[in-house]
Amino acid sequence: MDKLELLRQRFGYDAFRPGQQPLIDALLQGRDVLGVMPTGAGKSICYQLPALLLPGLTIVISPLISLMKDQVAALTQLGIPSAFLNSTLDAQSYCDVLRGARRGAYKLLYVAPERLEADRFQELAQDIEISLAAVDEAHCVSQWGQDFRPGYLKIAAFLDALPRRPAVGAFTATATAQVRDDIERLLGLREPLRVTTGFDRPNLFFDVVRPKSKDAYLRQFLSERPRASGIVYCATRKKVEAVCDGLQRHGFSATRYHAGLSDQERLDNQERFVYDEARIMVATNAFGMGIDKSNVGFVVHYNMPKNMESYYQEAGRAGRDGSPARCVLLYAPGDVQTARFLIQNGEDNELVREEERELLRQRDLDRLDQMTAYCKTTGCLRACILRYFGERAPERCGSCGNCSGALEERDITVEAQKILSGVARVEKRFPSSLGVSSILDMLRGSRSQKVRHYALDELSTYGIMKDISRDQVRTYIDLLIQEGYLCLTAGTYPVLRLCPSARQVLFHGEKVTCLCRVPTDAELAAGKRETREKAPAAGAEALYERLRELRGRLAHEANVPAYVVFSNVTLADMAAKRPATPEAFLDVSGVGEFKAQKYATPFLAEIAAWLEEEEAKV
Ligand code: ADP
Ligand code: ZN
Repeated sequence: MDKLELLRQRFGYDAFRPGQQPLIDALLQGRDVLGVMPTGAGKSICYQLPALLLPGLTIVISPLISLMKDQVAALTQLGIPSAFLNSTLDAQSYCDVLRGARRGAYKLLYVAPERLEADRFQELAQDIEISLAAVDEAHCVSQWGQDFRPGYLKIAAFLDALPRRPAVGAFTATATAQVRDDIERLLGLREPLRVTTGFDRPNLFFDVVRPKSKDAYLRQFLSERPRASGIVYCATRKKVEAVCDGLQRHGFSATRYHAGLSDQERLDNQERFVYDEARIMVATNAFGMGIDKSNVGFVVHYNMPKNMESYYQEAGRAGRDGSPARCVLLYAPGDVQTARFLIQNGEDNELVREEERELLRQRDLDRLDQMTAYCKTTGCLRACILRYFGERAPERCGSCGNCSGALEERDITVEAQKILSGVARVEKRFPSSLGVSSILDMLRGSRSQKVRHYALDELSTYGIMKDISRDQVRTYIDLLIQEGYLCLTAGTYPVLRLCPSARQVLFHGEKVTCLCRVPTDAELAAGKRETREKAPAAGAEALYERLRELRGRLAHEANVPAYVVFSNVTLADMAAKRPATPEAFLDVSGVGEFKAQKYATPFLAEIAAWLEEEEAKV
């Protein structure tokens, strides 16, 4: 069978996406490849399809132990025999899988990199025919990437020791040249075919907002999309706890994920999210690498990430099935401080020497600057991302926060002068200065203990901003930090200090401005900004909901995540086409023969029942 037929029959898709065909062809000819494609572009098919056509076994090396089960479940749904080997298997199942592989029972075998060295796996690898080795998340081999895994450094030696070296396919979504070079060198790729597809993800709407209260904004955002499932990334464990608790208290279906939880709890929470039992995942960046949940409708960054690579990777977990999705970054200038602190006090990579460590730190700080520039730009956000990754981009994309809402410059010189002179007076009285909250108390005329303790109410600037909310004053302070008029010292008790340029504002008439977004007329009319997601065609929406419920029930019975049965895009196509016969069912995008056999009956019945009810209504 040829590959296009296989794509249609097995996977239910009509055509290859960009990059897939050349990668598949090369692998089928036994040539190494390096596929650099953004999340959601369809990297898996690039090795899953050749696996079906090649005579021997395809091994897939993946760092994501928790994912393997779902990946194998998804393949099983497609009728593709596969299994995985990792530390979650008990001794008996491990043996069974090894025996199955020896018998040739599988086309694909997922293995964790650490397994490659295990004796029994080595024996197996020496005895059977391995046609293809796919290395997923290949950037994990590079110390320059964000997800370095020492186990990946052993892959090259493993491949070389095989009786016959298979074709090797390396896949990643990380685009920088340095990481790409590392992948080729450290995995020992031999004259690989390199395919890099465009990094744009047209279905993602990017936005950066500076809300007065992030919590209030988040709740509003979530209430406006009551059915969408999504991820909220926070910079620290503590923040994850606070945000998750807050959402739960307000009745949102949220769960959490960070490195401070037990393995069991992390696994449970992840599953609840993947299986659509919890709608919102609040997590640190420990969550999600390769999370294969295609129906993520939004990714909100509660804090600014450390660099654009992380941001695009995390935001890119939205809309993998191609449906419209939103990526919002909630920016507060104070986040820059947090990120800087995390970089300066981050985990040290034990494999690098001291001088390299300093170099890495400097590089991280440079990347942070670029990230900050993204948050502050008034230009097209998509263009900013694409240019960062070395792609050309049009001036305006028309579907990001900056392209679709005007920005207005506001003069905040008076507010700035009040704050700066307040800090100046505090510094005069306490040469070591005080922290932000004391300054806020003083400016807003609070009667707090700190005020009394330091006698701040004796200063002439006491209470000069009492008419402005604390959040708003905080926003101004953050802005002044961002613009270099104030700085926060490092250390456990950071204090607020004047920077030399503050004199320009205080004594030489320099103006301070900030950019605020002006809502469009349509947004004003709708009473909100969030109106741009495409709704399914009229009528289709009700049916879509019915099909979604049916999918949920079937997934529950089969004990697999819902997207493994059908993706949202497939359901939407089904709701639009309303197939009445098994042949028509096969026409739906994402429905292959195997899945049709399994699911045509219940879905066709549901569609027929719905049509009948609709007719009865008229
Ligand atoms: P990646 O690993 O690159 O992040 P996946 O392999 O998970 O992406 O694919 C993302 C989604 O795109 C999946 O739902 C997959 O089934 C779908 N997909 C892949 N190839 C095609 C194609 N040629 N046509 C339509 N959908 C596709
Ligand atoms: Zn834009």
